[in-house]
Amino acid sequence: MLCLGVVLTGCGNSKQAKSNKVRIVATNFAAYDFARQVGGTKAEVELLLPPGTESHSFEPTPREIKKIAAAQVFVCAGGESEEWVDKLLASVGNKETKVIKMMECVPTVEEVVSEGMQGNKKHTDEVEYDEHVWTAPTNALLIVGKINKTLQAVDAANATVYQQQTEAYTKQLTQLDQDFRHIVATGKRKTLVFGDRFPFRYFVDAYGLKYFAAFPGCAHDTEASAATLAFLINKVKTERIPVVLHTELSNEKVADIICEATGATKKEFNACHNVTKEQMNNGVTYVDLVQQNAKVLKEALN
Ligand SMILES: [Zn+2]
Repeated sequence: MLCLGVVLTGCGNSKQAKSNKVRIVATNFAAYDFARQVGGTKAEVELLLPPGTESHSFEPTPREIKKIAAAQVFVCAGGESEEWVDKLLASVGNKETKVIKMMECVPTVEEVVSEGMQGNKKHTDEVEYDEHVWTAPTNALLIVGKINKTLQAVDAANATVYQQQTEAYTKQLTQLDQDFRHIVATGKRKTLVFGDRFPFRYFVDAYGLKYFAAFPGCAHDTEASAATLAFLINKVKTERIPVVLHTELSNEKVADIICEATGATKKEFNACHNVTKEQMNNGVTYVDLVQQNAKVLKEALN
């Protein structure tokens, strides 16, 4: 529940006076890190999601709503797990907060329930667009471009700095994209199996990969049915899939069952929704996590 009336009256501008950095608030780790890479020392970027917590069930507390209201730039995914965003922004109203929805930076695709996957019954009548756009480095480039333009507009005095930082970061993302293309081109197979939710539609589409998974990207289920388990176990056995994947901050239950039944190795494929406290303290980045994914991908495709 959001108690907007109470908290938005007189949202303190005390923080504003403290620094002349651009104040950015982001709803998930990917958005946070993209803003941090472009903004560098000229921006104060805050991740709304507490480290280690689940992103799909997140709703902001009054304290966090205050932070959003005081932000100059707000970066979010813009999808179904952030239904609270539009309500909140409507009530923040005439504020000058620039809103970047990552889904609006790229061409989106519908969330699909693929063969063997357990559907999300709640949403069967509606078309849901898959919100996990940031999982493809090619999309990350577009999102970063939008953040760059926005920061240049908000803080024109530092436009050159944002431009330079964006160019340097673009090189890193482009390198990641090339690494993935090389791994896929030289891999023995094209199929990935996720014993978990599947937030990687944009990623597999970008590299021409096939996939099987237990649940769609933003599913609330973590208990797989006997039919789903049997389907995935059979796939791993018949296609001799060496690695079964799970996402970050997962209970890993489904992946464990499949690995026990098949002898496959369990590995994490990180969708960068959020990081652990330890990773946050160590300053982990999107590029670090995705480079780790590249290593896992190499193993999974060979
Ligand atoms: Zn998600």
